[in-house]
Amino acid sequence: MSDDKIQMVDLTVQYHRLKDEIDRAIQSVTESGAFINGPQVGEFAAHLSAYLGARHVIPCANGTDALQIAMMRLNLRKGDEVIIPAFTYAAAAEAAILLGLTPVAADVDSRTFNLSADAVSEALSERTKAIVAVHLFGQSCDMHPLMETARRHSLYVIEDNAQSLGSVYTFPDGSMKKAGTMGHVGTLSFFPTKILGCYGDGGALTTGDETLAGQLRMSTVHGQSSKYHHRIIGCNSRLDTLQAALLDVKLRHVDAFIAARRRVASIYDRELGGIGGLTIPCRHPSSTHVYHQYTLQVEDGRRDSLLIWLRNAGIPSAVYYPLVMDEQPAFSPHLRTAGDLPEARRLTKSVISLPIHTEMTPSQISRITQRIVSFFK
Ligand SMILES: *Cc1c(COP(=O)(O)O)cnc(C)c1O
Repeated sequence: MSDDKIQMVDLTVQYHRLKDEIDRAIQSVTESGAFINGPQVGEFAAHLSAYLGARHVIPCANGTDALQIAMMRLNLRKGDEVIIPAFTYAAAAEAAILLGLTPVAADVDSRTFNLSADAVSEALSERTKAIVAVHLFGQSCDMHPLMETARRHSLYVIEDNAQSLGSVYTFPDGSMKKAGTMGHVGTLSFFPTKILGCYGDGGALTTGDETLAGQLRMSTVHGQSSKYHHRIIGCNSRLDTLQAALLDVKLRHVDAFIAARRRVASIYDRELGGIGGLTIPCRHPSSTHVYHQYTLQVEDGRRDSLLIWLRNAGIPSAVYYPLVMDEQPAFSPHLRTAGDLPEARRLTKSVISLPIHTEMTPSQISRITQRIVSFFK
């Protein structure tokens, strides 16, 4: 790939940098023929468990399945309410609705893009049973107040950690935990563009609860306690051995991946901070940022013109996310909204995410920042 072509995410340059290691790992699977549940799946899960500080890691087929399986195993009944952020990816709402649960869209904190404990408190009802705390764009939700609210109201907390693997949250007492290890269950996606991405689909569940871990694990293999003995209703949601072998290689580099993303973000911050009408992503004091996305907020309705301005210079950018949950025709009939969701609605009109990945060159970054600076001049 030439230095000139800027992409939102560049997976091929990264592959070529790690080619020897990756090819060897993939070949070890193709030579062994153990494509389903080969030893690499368990090895990767053990390494990921150590990396995250999560007692149990249960690999599965993708991050959406992980959310659905988590909701299947938390003693939720039809009609129970699950609080989700109004501004996020669709997976949590979809999983809840498929299970006959009612997602309740709560507003987010526009500085962090994440669900706030205040919004959760306003969204509560007698039917509320769980919260999906989505750690959006690379930063952990402010988990201390969220967990306090959950404890007070006996709610389960699912952490959707598809975007923030490696992010570290600091509690008020100074103790630290990685995103995905603070609630009852955490879910991960290894979709190719995520912080730790495979070459296809992949996902995992994390939990510190041994009994729940057993239930989640059974759920990924048709609810079987042993072969052909079905204890509970599960599904078929496995991580391919090929993907696990590749992920195990990439996991060894994941802190370097995150450091590379942070270097890009720091340059963006330096060059774009202080421009009137433009807000750079905030770094919350309680959470480190792994910059799954670098998301700006553009005021005065100028977001779409900036998008075109960038596109005309061959610079891609993206709007994550263009609609609030209740604006999605698939979800709106099944969903309750908590209030008017003003922050979420404003964000859908003002956010723009810039290219960020592990292989960006200084000249690419400066082409992007110069183009943005010239837009606001
Ligand atoms: C990517 C993503 C998912 C879904 O992951 P898949 O592996 O694509 O199913 C869920 N939630 C969030 C926040 C995501 O970014």
